[in-house]
Amino acid sequence: MGLERELEKLVEKKKVEQCELCHSRMKYLGGGKYRCSFCGMEVLDDFGKIKQFLEENGPTPQAIISQQTGVSLDKIDTYLRKGMVEIPDGSKFYLNCEKCGCEIRYGRFCPECSKSEVINNLRGSYQDVGERPKQHYNPDMAGKMHFINRRGN
Ligand SMILES: [Zn+2]
Ligand SMILES: [Zn+2]
Repeated sequence: MGLERELEKLVEKKKVEQCELCHSRMKYLGGGKYRCSFCGMEVLDDFGKIKQFLEENGPTPQAIISQQTGVSLDKIDTYLRKGMVEIPDGSKFYLNCEKCGCEIRYGRFCPECSKSEVINNLRGSYQDVGERPKQHYNPDMAGKMHFINRRGN
């Protein structure tokens, strides 16, 4: 299955429409967070759970995030590849460009490879282009940052 379709399915699935307590309509607040328009109960979807976990715990390997939030590794990976979650500069682990293998912070291809005609013809768009990290790993900084490393690292 293509990544596009996979994400569509995720977005479709994660949508929270009704309050569990009072069955009123939920309002989307952004960042994966919803609030009930009647009783004010707040819930997080999978994206919100990952985001909150990273805000509270800082840099954490993907496997631990998955364990703690109950969100599958595949979903976490998809969020990274779609650029919904980014790996900040200075992290120890990055994603790899799917064409040349260089390090990128999010997305599927590095800016250089995204310029290649093959990928443009293949993808028909630039939307999976990631950014290359500007800094090399710095242990002093990494502790303050939010990043997700790749499965198996
Ligand atoms: Zn409610
Ligand atoms: Zn590349």
